[in-house]
Formats: sequence, C-alpha cells, structure tokens
Amino acid sequence: MAAAQSDRDPPSALCAEFLNFSAKDTASRWLAAADLQQEVYAHLAVYVPRILCLGPSGSISSREEQREELACQLLLLAPLEWLLLGEEPATGLALLQEKNQPSPLCGHVFKVGEPTYSCRECAADPTCVLCMQCFLGSVHKEHRYRMTTSGGGGFCDCGDAEAWKKGPYCQKHTPTETRDTEEDPVAQLPPDLVARGYSIFSIILKYAVDMLTWEQDDQLPAGLEPPEKGDTYYCMLFNDEVHTYEQVIYTLQKAVNCSQKEAVSFATTVDRDGRKSVRYGDFQFCEQAKSVIVRNTSRQSKPLRVEVMHSSVVAHQCFALKALSWLGQVIQYSDGLRRVLCQVGLQAAAEAENSSLVDQLMLNDSKMWKGARNIYHQLLMNSLLMDLKYKKIFAIQFAKNYRRLQTDFMEDDHERVVSVTSLSVQLFTVPTMARMLMVEENLMKTIIKTFVDHLRHRDLQGRFQFDRYTAQQAFKFGRVQSLIGDLKYVLISRPSEWSDQLRIKFLEGFEAFLELLKCMQGMDPVVRQVGQHIEMEPEWEAAFTLQMKLTHIISMIQEWCSTDERVLIEAYRKCLSALSHCHSSLPDGEQPISLSLAGHCVETFRYQVSQDKVSIHLPVCRLLAGLHVLLSRTEVASRFPEQLPLGELSPPLLIELPLRCLVLCAQVHAGMWRRNGFSLINQIYYYHNVKCRVEMFDKDVIMLQVGASMMDPNHFLMIVLSRFELFHIFSSADCRKRYREANKDVVQQNNTLIEEMLHLIIMVVGERYVSGVGQVEAFDEVRREILHQLSIRPMAHSELVKALPENGNKETGLERVIDSVASFKKPGVTGRGLYELRPEWNKHFNLYFHHYSRADQSKAEEAQRKLRRQNGEDTACPPPLPPPLCPLFGSLVNLLQCDVLLAVEGAVLQWAVEPSGGGWTESMLQRVLHLVGVALLEEHQQLENSSGDDDVTFNYTSKITRPGEAPSTSGSVLALLESLQNAPHLEVHKDMITWILKMVTNIKTMRERTSSASTVTISQGQGPEETVRDKDKAERKRKAEMARLRREKIMAQMSEMQKHFINENKELFQQSLEELEASTSAAAEHSPLSLDPSCVSQVCVGPRRVGGAERRQLVTCILCQEEQEVRGHGRAMVLAAFVQRSTVLSKNRRRNLPDPEHHDPLFMHPDMSLGIHTASCGHIMHATCWQRYFEAVQLKEQRRQQRLRGHTSYDVENGEFLCPLCECLSNTVIPLLPHTHSPDRSVDHPSLEAWLKTTNQQIAALHFAHRKQSDGVAEGAEPAVPEGFRVDFTPQNPFSSSISEMITTFSMSTYKVGLKVNPNEQDHRVPVLIWSTCAYTIQSIERLLMDEEKPLFGSLPCRQDDCLSSLTRFSSSCWTAAPVTTTHTHFIRLLAALVPDSQVENTPCILDIDMFHLLVYTVLSYNSVHSLDQSGRSGVDSAHLHLLHLVTVAHLVQVLLTSTTEEVCMDQDSLATEEEELTCQLYNTLRKHLGSVLPEVTSGWQLFHCVKVGVLPFLRAAALFFHYLNSTAPPADLLVAGPGQWEALCSYLSLPANLLQLYQSQHTLLEPLIHRWCCHPGVRQNLQGGGVIVRFPRESNRLIELPEDYSVLINQASSFTCPRSGGDKSRAPTLCLVCGSMLCSQSYCCQTEVDGEDVGACTAHTFTCGAGLGLFLRVRESQVLFVAGKTKGCFYPPPYLDDYGETDQGLKRGNPLHLCAERYRKIERLWRQHGIAEVIGHAQEANQTLVAIDWQHL
Ligand SMILES: [Zn+2]
Ligand SMILES: [Zn+2]
Ligand SMILES: [Zn+2]
Ligand SMILES: [Zn+2]
Ligand SMILES: [Zn+2]
Ligand SMILES: [Zn+2]
Ligand SMILES: [Zn+2]
Repeated sequence: MAAAQSDRDPPSALCAEFLNFSAKDTASRWLAAADLQQEVYAHLAVYVPRILCLGPSGSISSREEQREELACQLLLLAPLEWLLLGEEPATGLALLQEKNQPSPLCGHVFKVGEPTYSCRECAADPTCVLCMQCFLGSVHKEHRYRMTTSGGGGFCDCGDAEAWKKGPYCQKHTPTETRDTEEDPVAQLPPDLVARGYSIFSIILKYAVDMLTWEQDDQLPAGLEPPEKGDTYYCMLFNDEVHTYEQVIYTLQKAVNCSQKEAVSFATTVDRDGRKSVRYGDFQFCEQAKSVIVRNTSRQSKPLRVEVMHSSVVAHQCFALKALSWLGQVIQYSDGLRRVLCQVGLQAAAEAENSSLVDQLMLNDSKMWKGARNIYHQLLMNSLLMDLKYKKIFAIQFAKNYRRLQTDFMEDDHERVVSVTSLSVQLFTVPTMARMLMVEENLMKTIIKTFVDHLRHRDLQGRFQFDRYTAQQAFKFGRVQSLIGDLKYVLISRPSEWSDQLRIKFLEGFEAFLELLKCMQGMDPVVRQVGQHIEMEPEWEAAFTLQMKLTHIISMIQEWCSTDERVLIEAYRKCLSALSHCHSSLPDGEQPISLSLAGHCVETFRYQVSQDKVSIHLPVCRLLAGLHVLLSRTEVASRFPEQLPLGELSPPLLIELPLRCLVLCAQVHAGMWRRNGFSLINQIYYYHNVKCRVEMFDKDVIMLQVGASMMDPNHFLMIVLSRFELFHIFSSADCRKRYREANKDVVQQNNTLIEEMLHLIIMVVGERYVSGVGQVEAFDEVRREILHQLSIRPMAHSELVKALPENGNKETGLERVIDSVASFKKPGVTGRGLYELRPEWNKHFNLYFHHYSRADQSKAEEAQRKLRRQNGEDTACPPPLPPPLCPLFGSLVNLLQCDVLLAVEGAVLQWAVEPSGGGWTESMLQRVLHLVGVALLEEHQQLENSSGDDDVTFNYTSKITRPGEAPSTSGSVLALLESLQNAPHLEVHKDMITWILKMVTNIKTMRERTSSASTVTISQGQGPEETVRDKDKAERKRKAEMARLRREKIMAQMSEMQKHFINENKELFQQSLEELEASTSAAAEHSPLSLDPSCVSQVCVGPRRVGGAERRQLVTCILCQEEQEVRGHGRAMVLAAFVQRSTVLSKNRRRNLPDPEHHDPLFMHPDMSLGIHTASCGHIMHATCWQRYFEAVQLKEQRRQQRLRGHTSYDVENGEFLCPLCECLSNTVIPLLPHTHSPDRSVDHPSLEAWLKTTNQQIAALHFAHRKQSDGVAEGAEPAVPEGFRVDFTPQNPFSSSISEMITTFSMSTYKVGLKVNPNEQDHRVPVLIWSTCAYTIQSIERLLMDEEKPLFGSLPCRQDDCLSSLTRFSSSCWTAAPVTTTHTHFIRLLAALVPDSQVENTPCILDIDMFHLLVYTVLSYNSVHSLDQSGRSGVDSAHLHLLHLVTVAHLVQVLLTSTTEEVCMDQDSLATEEEELTCQLYNTLRKHLGSVLPEVTSGWQLFHCVKVGVLPFLRAAALFFHYLNSTAPPADLLVAGPGQWEALCSYLSLPANLLQLYQSQHTLLEPLIHRWCCHPGVRQNLQGGGVIVRFPRESNRLIELPEDYSVLINQASSFTCPRSGGDKSRAPTLCLVCGSMLCSQSYCCQTEVDGEDVGACTAHTFTCGAGLGLFLRVRESQVLFVAGKTKGCFYPPPYLDDYGETDQGLKRGNPLHLCAERYRKIERLWRQHGIAEVIGHAQEANQTLVAIDWQHL
C-alpha cells in the first residue's frame, strides 16, 4: 500500500504544467501536423493518466476533484476547443450560438423525479410529454392534462409537430419565421470550421467509443500507451441487480477493510454509476481484494463482477466519458455542428455493416457499465434525436439491429432504463417514423417475431407452456414484455392513408401476430377435478399477464383493420384460416350426437365441459369475433360479400370454444369446480375483469351472437342447452322429475346452471351496445357502462375510471359522457366528490347488464327498487328498450320467439305455478320474465316503426297465446303468466308480471288498430292509483313496526351499556374535534355557569376570590361503574392522560435539545423551544381499577410478543395503553384532587411592601436553615424569623396513601417523558416538570382559542376542561410528594428573578424568562413556603395576588423592551390618555437605564398599543390558570367572544383596567426592581443582537405555506439533491410541514444514528424539529406522513385534491392537483391540538399492516 502511495504524482507537480501549457499553441501545432489523430493521441497518452484517477478514489476530497476538473479543462479540452474553433473558445462558441437558428424542438432531458405533463386531449400518445417550462407556456395548460414524475431519461416533446394533435409549440419554441426545415444547417457554417469539426469529432468520438468498449484491463489501444507504466491498479467493483445493498456493504467491509460508512458510500456509487473502484495499489494488492469479494458473493448466486484494471485504462475511460459530455455541450451551440457530429457518428465503413461508431456503441451497450451508458445515451438524445434527418437514419439502424439489441438486453441484468433498447420510445412513437420503419424494415413483424422467438418453451401442440418455466426463463419473460410496449408504440396511431407497401407489411405483421395468438389459443387447459382436491395450484398468472399486455395491441390491430377495407378483408381471411387451423385439433372423429326438442333436430359434438379439457385462452376466436363486428360496422360485409369467405364459416364451430368457456364460468359459479382450487377462481375473475374482458368475455358473447345470427335459433339453443348439460332437463318431463328427487346438491347445481344459461341468452339477444352489433356509437357504449355503475351507488371519478376499460392512450371516454348522465357532488373536508346518476336515466337500467357481477347485480337491484319505492312507483325493473341491431346481426331477435326458447320459458313458468321442492328458483323466474319483456319490447318497437301489420314478422304475442307443444306445457305462456299474477308466493315479481300483461294488451290493441295508424304508448309501471296507495299504507305500517322493534332492541341493549358505550364512543372519537367542541363543558356537578353572572364581579385570584370548594365532586369509574366522591383522603380516582414533548409553540427550532442529565428546566425561555403537553380523553377510573387494567394489558402484550414480534400501536414498555372506554392513546393517569379551600376572609391582606418584607425574612430564614443543614455550620447571625414561621415544620400530608401513590405515578411519567430520563423520585426537577406541563398546556390551549376566535371560557370540550382542571389542581399539590426543601429552593430561585437576591446566583435576565411559566411556578411553589407559616395570620391568596402583580409588571417591562415600534408619523389630534402617558413614562424610565440600546419612541399611543396586545396572551393564560386553580366561575363577558374582554379579564384577575397603574401605584417600591432588571448584563446583550429576540405577542406557529399547484412542489423536489451524496437526486424527497426543510427520506445515504440506532432522514429530523414527532409531505407520493418516535407512524390523506374532489396518493392518476385549504387547516389544527400521536394510534389500531412498517427508516 505504501509503495503505491509514493508512486503518485503529487498534484502540485501538475501546477507547473498549467503555467507552461498553452492550449492555443498546442492546437496550432496539431493543425500543422501530418497525422492529426496521432498527435492528439500522443497528447492524451501523456496527460490523461497524469490528471485523472490518481490514487484511492474513495477518499478523494472535493478540492482534489475540482483540481482534476480544472486540469482536464485546461490541458485536455481547451486545445480541442481551440482546434475546432480556431479562436478563443468562449468567443468562438458565443459567435456560433448567435448565428445558430435553433430547431424548435425543446429536447429538455428529464431528471429523475422531474414533473412531466401530457395532454389527454392533444397528445398523440401518452408518451408525449412536456417539461414544466414548456407546459406553462402551452395551450394545454387549459386542457385536461396529466401530470407525472419522470423516472429519468426521455425528453420534452415540445416542438414536435407529430407528437401533438394541437398546439405543438409552447410560447418559447414557436418558430419565429417559416424556416425551411429541409435546409442543411451545415451549409450555414464556414467550410473550414466544418472540415475541422469533422476531423476533431471523428478522432474524439472514435477515441471515446474505443475506450468505452475496451475490454482489456492491462493494455491500451495503439497510440495511447503511457510513456511510463507503473504498477498501479484499481480493484473495480461492478453493479449487478442480483446482490442487495446489505450484501455488498458487508462484503466490502470484509474485502477492503473499510468502515461501514465507506462501504455504504461505495455501494451507493456502484448502484448509481454501475462501477466503482474500491481499492488502489499494486496488482497483488488489488487481486487479493478481488478474490475475497468473489469468494464472499459466490455462494448463493453468481459472484459480483470485480476486475483489476490498470490505472491508465481507468483514467482513459474516465476521460472518454468527459469527452462525450464535452461533445454534447459543444453541439448545443450550433445545429450545424450537431449535424456534423451525427454524420461522423453514423458514417459506416464502406465494406462492413454495422461499422459506424454509433452502431458500435449500441451493439456493445449491454457490456458497458451504467455510468457509461447513461452518458452516451444522453449524447444520442442531444445529437441524433434532435436532428430530424439523422433521427431517421438512426431509427433505421436501430430497427436493423433491433433483434440483436433485444437479445443482448435479455442477457443483460440491468434495468431497461439504462439499456439502449429504451430509446425505442423516442423513435417508434413518431407516427411517420413508425410507418417508415414498418414499410422499410418490416418493424412490426420483426418485433413480433423477436418476441415469439424468445418464448421458447412450448407444449406438444406448440402452445406456450409457462408452468414449466425456470427462474431464468421467468426473468426473461419479464424482460421480453417490453417488446409488447414497443409494438404498442408502433401501432398507437392509426394510419390515415394506406400505401400498398404498408398494406403488405402490416398484413405480414398481422400474420406474425396470428402465429403468436395461435401459441396462446388453448393455453393452460383445465380439467375438472373430481373426488380429490388438486395437489398443487397450477401456474396461471404468466398466461394472464401476457393476455393483459396484449389486450391493447389486439384492440389496436382491429382499429388499424377498420380503417382500410382491403386490409380488413385480408385480415379476416387470415384470421379465419388460423382459426380453422386451431379447430383441426378438435376431436371430430367421434360420432356426433343428435338432439331433438320442440320439434327440431340438430347434431353436435360429443363433448362435456365437466369432463373434458377446456381453456380460457381463445385469442384467435376472439380476434375473429372482433373483425366480424368490424365487417358489420364498416358495412364491408354488405358491400363486398363476394370477397368474404362467409360461406366457409361453420357457425357451430365458431360458437363451440367460446361457449365452452362460458359454460366453464357457469359451472364454476355452480360450485362444480371447487376442487380445482384458487387458480381457476382467479382466472375466471380476470376473464370478467375490466383489464381483460374487452378481449375475452365480451368477445365470447359477441362470437355467440355471430353464430346465433347465422344459425337456426332452435339449433343454437339446443347446442347451448347441451353444452350446459341441461338438455335432458328440458327435453322430457320425466327426466326433470327424476332430477327433482335426486341429490340436493345436484338440484342446486342445476338450478344455478339454468339461471346462468338464461342469463347468457339474455346477453346474446340483449347486448347490443357494441358498434357493429347494434346501431350505436362508441359514445353510447361508454355512457351505458357509466350509468350502470352509477346505478349501484354514487361513485367517485377514480372509481368510475377503474370500472371502465382504458384504451392504449389510457383514456376511457368517461369525460365526454359523464356530465350527460350524472351530476357531481363536491366533497366536504373529508371524503371525496361523487357522481350521482341523473333520475331521467333510471329507465335505461338493465338488471342483466353483462358486466355486473352477481354482487353488483343484487346491489343495483336493491338500489333501484328502493329508488322506485321512494318515488311511489312500482318496483318492476323491466328491460330497457334495446337499440336496433345492425343488419348482419338482425336475425338475432328470432331467438326470442323460437320454439325451443318458448318451451324453456314455458317449463320454468310451469314450475313456478306449482312450486314444490327445490327444483325451481325465483332468479330463474325473474330471468324468464325479463326475456319475455325483451321480446314484447321488440315486437312493440317493430310495430311502432312499421307502416302496417304485415311487414312485422315478429309476432311473439301470438306465439305465447298458443298452447305449447313442449313436453311439460299444460297451457300457453300467457295463461301461465296470468295464473302467476296473483300467486301469493310471488309477491316480489307481481309488478313485473303486471307490466308484462299490460304490454301484451297494448300490443294487441296496436295490432287491432294498425289501420287507424294511431300508436299507443306504453304506460310503464302506471298501476291503478289505488294499489299504489294500498301499497304505501302497507309499507308505512311495516316501517312503523320495524321502528318499534328497533327501539325495543335498543332498550335491551342499553342495560348492557358498558359494552356498547365503548362502540358508540369509538364513533364519537372518529368525529372531528370541531364537532366535539360544540358540546361545552356542562357537567353539572362542577358547572360554574349556574351561578348568577350578574352578581358581584367574579374574581379568581387574591383574597376576594370566590371559591368553589363547597361543591362536591361525584364521579363514576368507567371500569366498575361505581360512583365515588373526590376527597383528599378517599380512594384515588384517576384520569387517563397522554403526556408528550411538544415543539408546537417553539419560536426557535434551531435550539439544540437539552442534555437530559444536566438540563435545568426551572426557567422556561420565552422561545418555548420545548414543552411538555398533557391531554386527556376525560375518562375517569379508580386508581385500583386502572392498575388492574394496566397489568392485564402488560400481560397480554408479553404473551403477544412471545408469539409474534413487532410493535403494537402502543408501547407498553413506555407505559402506554389505550383508554379502556374510548381507546384513546394514553401513557399515564392524573389523580383527581379536591377543590382548594375558600379563602380565609378573617386574615388581613398585607400591602405588597409588607408582604415582600415578610417574604424576604422568610427566605432569609430558609437560606440560613439550608446552609446549616448542608454545611453543618452557619456563618453570620441568625436572621430574624417572622412570627409563627417555623423553618423546621413538616407539614402533614393531606392525602391518603392511594392518592399519594398516584401523585408519584403522574409525576414520574411527566419527568420521564419531559426529560427523556429514567424515573428518579428524588430528583429535584420532578415538581418543576409538572408545573411546566401545566403552564405549557394552558398556553397552548389559550393560543388555540385565540386563533380560532373562541371565547376564553365555555368553549372547550369537556375532556379538555376536565384535563386542565385536574392538571392545575394536581400541580398545586404535587409538592407534597417531593422533599419540602426542594420546593423551597425553587421558590427562592424563582423569586430572585423578580426580586433580586444576593444569595442566589445565575439568575437569568427577564428577557430570558417566559413570564407565564414564572407566574405558574412561583404561585405553585409558594404553597410550600406558606405551609411553614403557622401564625394563621396570612393568607396564601394575598401572596398569589402579589406575585401576579409583580410578574405582570415584569412582563410589561419585557414587552416594552422588545417592542419594535417604528416611528410612524401619525397626527394625533386627541390628547394622550392617561394610559399612554404612563406607558411613555415607563418606557422613558427604561431608556434611562439602558440608554441608546432602546430606540426613542415618542408616540405613547403606539407604545400603549404594543403593550396591550403584547400582554394579552399572558393575562388570558393567567385567567385560565387561576380559574382552574381556584375553581372560580368565569365572568359572563368572557363566556362570549366580543367587546369588553379586556376590562372583564383585568377585573377577573383583580388587576386595574389600566395595567400601568400597577407600576404607578407602587412606584417607589418597583423603581429599584426595574432598575436591577435592566442592569442585568443579559438584557443589554440580548437587545444588542446576542440571539433570537422573542417579541410579544408571540405569533402562533403555523404549518408552512404550500403552493396552490402541486406541480410546483414536484418541481421543487426534483431539483432537490441529497445533501450527503454529492449532487445525487434524492429518491424520496420529503417536505417537513413544520419547518419547510426538504429531506432525503427512505434512503441509505441519509441515515443517521439516533440513540444508537440507524434511522432515516425523516425520523432523524423529527428529533431536532419536533421533539420526536413529525408531519411530512412525501412529494413523489403525494402523501402526508405522520411519525412519532421511532416505531410509530401512519399515512394521512394529503391536502391536495383533483378537480373531482379526490386525493391521488401515489400520484397514480396524474390529474392536476390543487391545494384544499380547509383540509390543510384541518391537518394544522390536528398538529396544534397535539392530536397527531392519537391519530397515529387510531390508524395503527384500525390497520395492523401499518404497525409492521419500519417507520424509522423513512
Ligand atoms: Zn420543454
Ligand atoms: Zn417548448
Ligand atoms: Zn391539449
Ligand atoms: Zn372502579
Ligand atoms: Zn377515554
Ligand atoms: Zn422540520
Ligand atoms: Zn440522501
């Protein structure tokens, strides 16, 4: 290692070179040389190894990197530039650019994560995208656009006229003049420049290509060998997609002995660039590392690729990349130079194919490492793809090499984005290019052939066989699918004109495609499993993946065919012959069976789905069905019948396979295939699923229609009956009877099969909404789909989109029709916008809509019946009027009136008339009634459209009046219907039968009246009025009865209250807090509102205060339901509570978190950077009941952890539990304490002066005592002790042991959470933290009330009210649990901040103290001092009042010191008020002490305004505090928002309305205090800019402002680079909503160690920004992330909505998103109310998968 180090050229050696080197001279020397290439190579051979890749690159510093960069530019690139331009490069390039006429193409290459835009209306295909700049300047901004984030690669299509149907240019790229695009840009350049360009570009490009494709590790190409070659090597590690990050990191640590951090950095670079040198040194040294790596990674898979390469080789490769980038930059200046480079790149040597430099690059693509590929791909995009002429030539080369490139890609293990094959999207999506390639290079056929060749594994019949795939083949199958993508690009735009060549090539491609489909026809056949369940689920997914991927291709090929008659005819022929080829495998050798029914006979195959092989994959049949429909739609069939092989069609053959498939589905539904497992269920599911059905299920139905329209309807139906294995049931009455007595399962199976078969017949005659089958447009088809979706229930836009099939352009056509059928309802703060069906469309509802699943059907039926009942209509759902059929399908209607169908109908009706046993179902009847209805509608319509009775051949009414000939019929269908009309067991169908009978009557009347030409309109569902009314009455009665029953049930449940209470409350808690806030604190036993508000003004502090101690507090334990009075000596009652650290009020997020061990929390800084918040759900328990409950929770958790690891939504080890009633997250309990005593009115109220004097004496006595205690001796004389004050007095504990225990419990929780330390009851900081959480919680609630403009009192929800009152009372008593001297010391130190005390050190200045905290602390700690006063002559209340006065004055001073009143000249006409004068006076006093540090302010009005506003939050918080402390009822004025608040507040606090009087009245006493405050050195320091000055009132914190348009955020995030890995794009940029920092989340690079654990950037950030709690927006995912601690988190809907009122989590749909201010405010409120942790808890409780996510790694 050492030897290698010394070999290095010290960088300083290069410095001398810099000075002596002249780029200009070098260039001219080269120019003069005979062989330019030799000269340039010689130069590179010398300099490249000396500049680049010196030494171990792991430790390269950014300075070295800069030096390398500089040397590269000066010594290597500058001479090239001189040579090219022949002048100063900067000048030359500027000149070039000036003269350049840029092409209108934008060509901006996308970075990873950059937003891209596409227009749903104008883009030629979905791959056409715009960059943000172009988009904003384009017309598409106003269109329906789609927004996505780029995966990197690809470029902006702005300016490409072929990419856009409309508006191809943005404002910037609109061509200024009509420029001749054919003009050669090279001609614009001076010829000598062109000549130099050719030679330089050839040399450099060749050099780069040679180096990048160089495969020797120790040699260099001729002419590049370095003058001296040292023994310096690199051990180069290459990327693969097999080994994980962890494996690589682990191996590297072992192999090259580096730290974990270095290993991570190596691994990251290898992943990004594709290779990285991990060791530098002599050959031996590198070999050694290589063998360790190989050994370590070869166990399970093939080893990591490692090579030992000579340093000069690495250096040249490195420079080759720089040279390519340089070329890319230079050509940006001139389109002429770009074209020169293109020519150089594509120039082929005369004799050899694929000899051009670009060919060499492409063909070696899969051998290069990622970084190299990326750079040359980028160069291709900047050069060849930007020049329209060369783009074409390149495309041809690409197409020529297509097969080989794809084959290379199959072997390559890199992702497709870094493969040259991914350029296909740039070439094939240009329609003219695609067509040219198709004609000249037979591209379509090439792609399909390549695809088929790569799927080699076939069965005996030549079909694909995926179930035998090895892992390797499966991987290849995954890769080969990208070819389908290429095919899609080629086909995506249909030709508007066809040339003969195009026809020929398309049909060749079509034939190749048929070959592919033939390999799929009959794939994965299944055989019904009887007896035993299958042993192994067969593979089915691969076949369906293929089908799904091909769905769009099949549809597109049909669209192509539809645009040209000749092509269509040829395609049809080819398809038919392919199908006959497939059919040849049908076993036709066996004897056919002969069927006869209702006087008709037919022969058919001997085949049973339930016994023989059947396959779902029939793509050839289905393609033929599609083409057949096109024949009908384009009317080719009627115009050129002679050219069509219609005569060759054998209808029974056509329908055979699709029918088998449909029967298979029916049998699966009937439960006959249960033993075949889930794979079959899944296949059936996908067969009907929206992703596949267009080219599967739908086409099968069409094929049956095709067959039926060409056959005798009776024959068709007999074959159907036979395939359903139902023929015998309808052919003889006896047989039917026999089955009725048979096995119950068999009966049920047959019933389902009959239902399915009837449904199929309904579809065959009724599904006419395909253009070509019925006379409809595509528009009608989509509309019908939507209206049936909306008939189920109102739906959101995205749900509808999901329910509709997408075309190749990812469009459903939804937008065009949605507004005509539905009305949109906007969403509220939650939920999403919904579309609702307009009522006029209800009559188009078809219960047997073919895309309904059974579940959809019953939901829709229920919804429709309900709707009809609501409208007072009858509940019949008759079939809607079907559209007329196209001529080719016209004979389908005959199915409705054929004998076999009538026989079937008759049979079912007959069974319904005499129902016995299980041989009949209502669904069956319902389907028959529907069929009858369809037939009647058909007849009615034909009659209406005809001129006379004669030409209506359809005469269903006459047929149903005829007595049937079918075996079982006893009467005519009509007679049967009439007898069913009043059957009591068919009440549900009564309306439908009535409707049918009326139709029959109508039609009869019409037929009778045909001569008189008057038409009768059908009166749908107009029953006689009376029946309607009767029904109404019955309905109402039924409802009343139901309601009564429900009430009774509820009453019964009430007695079981506890159980149900929980559930009810659960719902309550899911309601937002706002709703809860309406229910104000009104619990009767402590409601102060009942007092007469008009009586003497209420005072909450001081000797005049009104107490509330008289009221008894009765509470009920939620666990045992016992009532209990709260008393000091009673059983302890506790309130479930949650204590958490909070930074919600922080005004300084940069302050570091305190060191837990040494932090002194006694003085809260006014920046409030960290507080402790307490919340409660307000549920009360016995302490003992709670303890029992908590122990049970602990036990359960222990057991659970033994079984499965992982976290729960609450952390039992940290004392967390869920409230047993409402499941609110809690981590401690607050004991309930009795009210404070009423003030003792017998004692005097000393003046402030007198009180201060006494207190000072008391303090002096305490000081003395403490000293004596700690040192043993006390110096000086014993101070005079006030009478009755006993220093050694130990106050009696006023609480029972159970309450004391709970006091300790809560104290310890607060201590533990607040400081993040282990519990320690002896710590003197324990009481301080309790006071702190009391003060902080009050302050945060005061802020919320203020910002939401709610009154100070009476607007809090009960639970907060209860929480604050117990918390405050608890805080005032908690000192009883701490050593008494501790509290004394605290009081002494606190008071010293106000009344300076020489014996107390380190008192902060008043600018460093939050005055409200000080007030709370002093008041609460004073209690302990007062307890020593046994004189009985002083009241604690007087002290409270004096403390309030003192703190208020200090706060006034604080406000004035920090006020920033800028002198505004305002004419003040009115005289200054007393308040203003006093304010000025005080301010001037301050200036006297501090001098020029304070600015001069003359406007008393402004100053006073400042004071009043600044001090208000303090007064409000103080009022809340004393209100809860002393249980004093609030004054009426503070119960409502409005004027008079100030006066009411002051009087409630026993303060003068003019606060300045506090100072004025005690002037002599306060003056020296103020002087001492101001003289504290901290004040001056602070004001002179020694830190963040907090000004009053402190502005409330809000979440950061978010942009209105979401794409602005995406754009911001896309330019955000990872702060740790030098300019890399971050993969998951995440925005902190609290402070606005952007973080690099969910990535190795930005993991940090927090408390000995590696955590992701988000989690790490929460510890500095939110004390462990964070709110983030994951920008790429459009998702809000809540994180609490390391183990808890959840996702939350983002505040961004699309125009349909929906969020787009994961940005999958790409609709434009806009900020929804209300939703964002809701999130903000959640945060400010400290509700995030609870939301996380509830989310995790509801969704256990959230618990399993590693939140800490985000
Ligand atoms: Zn652009
Ligand atoms: Zn543009
Ligand atoms: Zn547009
Ligand atoms: Zn209890
Ligand atoms: Zn609760
Ligand atoms: Zn933050
Ligand atoms: Zn990072």
